[in-house]
Amino acid sequence: PVSRLPEVGTTIFTVMSALAQQHGAVNLGQGFPDFAGDPALLDLVTEAMQAGLNQYPPMTGVPALREAVSRKIERQHGRRYDPDTEITITAGATQALLTAVLALVHPGDEVIVLDPCYDSYVPAITLAGARAVRVPLRVDDFGPDFDAIGAALSPRTRAIIINTPHNPSGRIWREDEREALTRLLAPTEVLVISDEVYEHMVFDGQVHASASASPELAARTVVVSSFGKTFHVTGWKVGYVAAPAVLMAEFRKVHQFNVFTVNTPMQHALARYLAEPAHYEGLPDFYQRKRDLFRAGLAASRLVLLPCEGSYFQCVDYSPVSALDDEAFCRWLTTEVGVAAIPLSPFCATPPQRRIARFCFAKQDATLTRALERLAAL
Ligand code: PMP
Ligand code: GLN
Repeated sequence: PVSRLPEVGTTIFTVMSALAQQHGAVNLGQGFPDFAGDPALLDLVTEAMQAGLNQYPPMTGVPALREAVSRKIERQHGRRYDPDTEITITAGATQALLTAVLALVHPGDEVIVLDPCYDSYVPAITLAGARAVRVPLRVDDFGPDFDAIGAALSPRTRAIIINTPHNPSGRIWREDEREALTRLLAPTEVLVISDEVYEHMVFDGQVHASASASPELAARTVVVSSFGKTFHVTGWKVGYVAAPAVLMAEFRKVHQFNVFTVNTPMQHALARYLAEPAHYEGLPDFYQRKRDLFRAGLAASRLVLLPCEGSYFQCVDYSPVSALDDEAFCRWLTTEVGVAAIPLSPFCATPPQRRIARFCFAKQDATLTRALERLAAL
């Protein structure tokens, strides 16, 4: 067969954005802000370009950006990653995830993912010639089920991919859950790929339980993040990976033949911008206010709000409103109600047990208000 990914079509995000555009719906589907990044950050890119910083940067990323990332992680989680050997700048988290899997996972290996999971994980595992072992998160609260994860471990398990704050549910891992994973993996050689792209979107004063904050776990973990989320510039596609030097050396072998390196002026701009912690430390308040605005508006509808602890996604149980399956419901909502949302099925191996749709609230207040006017009638 020609296809290496016979099961894969076009991503649900692309499909729903196209449908929203076609029907003039308010697009709360695909996760991206509809507002500009900080003008000060945009100016830094122009400055870098004008200063002639337009040729290949080092393969691993601009040194000033790797240093800034290292300082940020140390400030937040108390672990120092060596910018020369333990941090690499990537073309967003998607490339980082694929590269990490291709670098570390062998054909015939098993990789555990926790369903629902982001849609790029399983195809990455398939492309590595490995098998994804899909372990459901708990149905009630999307928390990790360590009995189920333990039962899924086998001599072939090479890695587990975790994600906190979680897309699509917004669930964040507790520190004791991170410790439970650490204990579970202690007798094994299983690696961890920790997708932390929403690391700076954690609400209600809670702490982001980064894998990098636990020395034992960090020693076997590749941490992945993305500036697109943190600085409202998803189209820039710049992210980073932090990992112990032995793992990073393998990551870089693949990275150099995958993208080799990532656009130079953005890296210089991000390096200068990241040096000021206020630029990311204000993010929880910024998004918590939008979350609360959106939740207050939805309270008027029959949609049942699920908890939103982090990320920029709000999930609802729509069963009081419709008996459609989630893909059909999201299409109906887009074409008939005029608000696009994302179904959970594409994040799962088997259809979800509950009727849930995901909204993105990384939008201007006016956009959220327009959507709420339409949703309140449900
Ligand atoms: N992981 C998760 C959980 C995401 O939600 C996304 C994108 N929304 C990515 C990875 C990919 O990030 P990037 O755009 O930086 O490739
Ligand atoms: N990660 C974003 C989301 O979950 C979308 C990214 C994409 O379109 N691939 O909505």
